[in-house]
Amino acid sequence: MENKETINSILNIVKYDLYFTGTQINYYFVCKRKLWFFSHNMELESESDVVLLGKLLHEQSYKSKRMKEVTIERIKIDFIDRAEEIHEVKRSRKMEDAHLYQLLYYLYFIKHYTGKVMRGVIDYPLLRKRANIELDEGKEKEIQNILQDISRIVNTDKPPEEEWKKYCKACAYRELCWC
Ligand code: SF4
Repeated sequence: MENKETINSILNIVKYDLYFTGTQINYYFVCKRKLWFFSHNMELESESDVVLLGKLLHEQSYKSKRMKEVTIERIKIDFIDRAEEIHEVKRSRKMEDAHLYQLLYYLYFIKHYTGKVMRGVIDYPLLRKRANIELDEGKEKEIQNILQDISRIVNTDKPPEEEWKKYCKACAYRELCWC
């Protein structure tokens, strides 16, 4: 029985491990209903002013970096510095957990996909701040649990119920929730 549970848990990790995008990890922390919409091909975010502002910031910041917008399978990294540091550029610290776990997932993805252990940095150019991030054993376990929970959410037939939060005012999906 114990062996069966161990095998199931390994199969779960393999199945859900590197399947998701950074945006899905980010939305898991912002709003699980939004995660569901996005994961069911309802991608409204490109129309949002907030997203356009974010894209502009990415284009204008760190122009000199040569390895910008690096895509590895399902993840897209803002830039890689000194071949061992991956960077995410963010506008503000309002969604700090979402930023943190998105970057941790990138570190996790790269470690399991390529075998390379890298460091992470979240850059806040408008605030002139940066946060250094490392993937330790505890964070790796947390990422695995998050991936399994994301899988559970996106595999349900209906989205989670709407729940009002400050962020709803700026959300591209607000008309699906509050009209
Ligand atoms: S409007 Fe609010 S509840 Fe609806 S998806 Fe956006 S953040 Fe979630």
